[in-house]
Order: sequence, then C-alpha cells, then structure tokens
Amino acid sequence: MPLQVYSTLTRKKEAFPKKPGEPVGMYVCGPTVYKPAHIGHMVGPVIFDTVKRYLAYLGYKVTWVVNVTDVDDKLIARAGELKTTVPALAEKMTADYLECLKKLNVTGVDHFPRATGHIPQMVAMIGRLVETGYAYPAGGDVYFDVARDPDYGKLCNRDPEQLEAGSRVEVSDRKRNPGDFALWKGAKPGEPPEVQFDSPWGKGRPGWHIECSAMAKALLGDTLDIHGGGLDLQFPHHENELAQSESANGVPFARVWMHNGLLKMRSGKMAGSLGNVLNVADALKAVSGDVLRFFILQTHYRSPIDLGDWEPGAGVPSGLEAAKAAFDTFLRFAERVGRVLGTPFAALKTPGGGSAARTMAMRYVKRQQEFQAHLDDDFNTGGAVGVLFDLVRDLNKLADEHKLEDPGKESPARAEFAEGAGVFKEMCGLLGLTLATPAPALGGDDKLVSGLMQLLIDLRGNLREQAKGAAKDNPLKAALFAQTDLIRSRLAELGVTLEDRPGGTTWRAG
Ligand SMILES: [Zn+2]
Repeated sequence: MPLQVYSTLTRKKEAFPKKPGEPVGMYVCGPTVYKPAHIGHMVGPVIFDTVKRYLAYLGYKVTWVVNVTDVDDKLIARAGELKTTVPALAEKMTADYLECLKKLNVTGVDHFPRATGHIPQMVAMIGRLVETGYAYPAGGDVYFDVARDPDYGKLCNRDPEQLEAGSRVEVSDRKRNPGDFALWKGAKPGEPPEVQFDSPWGKGRPGWHIECSAMAKALLGDTLDIHGGGLDLQFPHHENELAQSESANGVPFARVWMHNGLLKMRSGKMAGSLGNVLNVADALKAVSGDVLRFFILQTHYRSPIDLGDWEPGAGVPSGLEAAKAAFDTFLRFAERVGRVLGTPFAALKTPGGGSAARTMAMRYVKRQQEFQAHLDDDFNTGGAVGVLFDLVRDLNKLADEHKLEDPGKESPARAEFAEGAGVFKEMCGLLGLTLATPAPALGGDDKLVSGLMQLLIDLRGNLREQAKGAAKDNPLKAALFAQTDLIRSRLAELGVTLEDRPGGTTWRAG
C-alpha cells in the first residue's frame, strides 16, 4: 500500500499527496531560543528527521525547514535576568539547540531561518493583510481580524468562540475581538533597541505566528507539503499561521498537517514553565544520543511519549532506563556482527533497496516489507522498531544454530547472516540509529580504562590457563579458579561484564 499520512486538518489518514521523485517542502516549528534545550524539544526534530529519511528513501526530494525564534518576550525577559543582550542569548541557545540535534543524529534540516533575518518578509505579509482588510493597525500594533476569516478554526475543527474559551488569549483593549491576535507588536517603553525593527506602523517586532508564515513562504513557497509541530502548537499557533497565510496568499497553506504527541511523565507534563525539565545535555550524561532517539521512536508519533517516573534531580527517568536496556539488544547484536563477519558493523554493506533485496533470503525480504509497511502506515516507527527486534532474533538464532562465531568455521549461513545484518543496518539508518555509540565510559580517560581492562583480562587469562594446566589433585587448581572468579565478580559489581568467546575475552560496561 502506498504511503498514508494522517492529517490533522482532515482528521483522517490519506494517500500522501506527492509522487516519489517530486519535491516535498516540509516546515516544522522550531524553538524559541532562550533556555537550553530539554528533551521535550527533541521529540519533533527526531520524528520529522525520520519522516525525511523515509521520504528520501522512497525517492522524494525533501527540503526541510526549522525556524528559530530569536526575538520574543521570553528572550527579552531572560536576557534581562542574565544581564546580556537578546542577540547574544539567542546565539548561545541556538548553538546549544544545534549541538543537541547533532547528538541525536538529526541531520536532515536544510534551513534554520532566524526570525530576525526575515523581518522585511514579515512586514510585507502584514502589509498585504492590512491592505486586503484581514488585519488592522491599532496604536502601534497590528492585529489579525478573526471575524473577517470565515475559515478560522478549521484546523482545530472548532468555531472561534470555543477556541477563545479553551485557551489563553492575549488581553488588549486595542483588539476588536478577544480572539484577534497580534501580527506586529509596537515597541514598549524600556525595550532594548535590538528588539525594535522599523515598519510602516512604527518601531516594533513581529508576532510569533507571522514569523512562521513569512519564513515558510520565503523558503518553501505559498503551499507546503507537510507542516509539522507538536500537538501543543495546534492552537493558537498553527490555526493562526494557517489563517494568516491563506488570507495573504489565497491558496492552501499546507497539504498535510502533522502533529506529534508530547513528552509526559507520571507526575504530569514536562515544561520549562513548571521547572521540571530534563535538559538534553544532562540526559546525554546518562544515555547515548542513539538511546534518546530510540526512546522517542518507540512510540507512534501521534501518541504521548511516556518518560515514566522522574522528578528533577532524581537520576534517569524510568522510561529512558527501559529504552537503554532494550536498545542494548541492538548494540550487542552489532558487536556480534563484527565477530561473525570479521568486519566492524559500521563497515557493513546495506542492500540499498530495490532489486538487491530480491536476491535475499525470503525471511529478510519479509522483514524488510514488514518494516516498510509500518512506515507506510503514517510513519509508525513503533511498529518498525518491533520488526528490528524480530530481525535481530532471527539472526541471533541463525548465528547460534550454525555456531557462526567459531573462527575458521565456513558455512553458507554466514552469507545469509551478512545479508540479514545488512538489512538490519539499513533499517536502523532509516530510523537514524547509528549503533556506533560506544558503551558509556567508566570515568577518567577512556584509553587508560581500556588499557587497565585489557591488563585484567590478560591476568585472568593467564590464571585460567595455569588452573586448567594444574593436576586435578593440586590444591592450587581450585585457588587459581577462585582468583579468576573473583576478578569477574568484582568487575560485575562495578557494572562491567566479561564475555568469554572462542576468539578471546571481551568486556562491556553497563
Ligand atoms: Zn510555527
């Protein structure tokens, strides 16, 4: 079945409106850069990065835009608290955000437009809305007149009165209707000069919603193929973007509206305003970027993502711990691929889709089809992750049955294993999972730790050889074995596991 995507606008799954080979413009609302990114900020980027990877795999030519809001009330307030300027704060927090994306292997964003870099386009769009009667200037501000737009509320499927009742609206006596929203905010006394821009309505700055409408138009044209963002942005942000863009441009704003579910904890919502956020940088001290990404993709993107038990300062959330343990299955498998094939997992060839897949053992073709069927069904990454586990189980069984880790043992099953492992690697790549992340360091210098570990492994190996060589009745035999057991158990207490294999002993932490 061809790709089906759920659109919030029509409230149903529909065939994706473009054909492979065609360009796809995707716009996803990005961060307001006033604080370091917390893990909730990574949900959208990881999901839409995966959407782009899959669309590209199917042959679409995707251009992905994520905006950066670098002028806003929150930025002005925070810069004041920190005794810095808005541009300096924005630059620092944008760098933090981009670094977090990199750590989670979110590599697909083509443009990160800054709001302050597109003020003329915003002013032009507001001007057009004023000219055509959709907006009105009032005392240095400009407002969108909700009553002039008969479609207003269509994204949320509610009429304007219901929308107002269910949400906070900015109160201003300059508005004609309480639901009207600011397109332009006149400068207030005492605001720093760097947040004041020129406009036909006097100095000021754009409203948040118009930023997205103007930047989307500037970079992707009047009609987007996909507009994405978190469920919390559906109203008022997306409803207002839609109203502005369609009123100014006279054509549909987006063919598909995708909204991702939000991160939640047993104790409720994670939000900067509640002071209960787990910053990405802190989460990455406990788990790898791969694990964080895997954690997000385990769930269907439209469902809430459950972090489980966590309170600020209370270690790693239980949901992340569980994801780490589950992801370990993949890491162990990637290591096994290296032992069976004699080449590192990273160097493994992938089938690359298409005809190559047909030469493969039917079992792996079937897994590949199952994986694709899940992603074709509204990017069901949770289902796709389930297929990865099935495939690893198939391949571990194959390696066990044919003893593929025994050195020098030739077997046709080894080629089959290589094919299956290639499929696994390709699927991981489509989800953006690298599996290249090393086990967490034990502390100190990694080189020193690995050197010391090798010393212990060699000492234990020598003790074992001596024990094996000693005569049965020699009391030293039991004492030597006791020493090797002591090394193993003391390392286990430190969270280090030794694995004895035909090719030698290896170790892993965690
Ligand atoms: Zn937006």
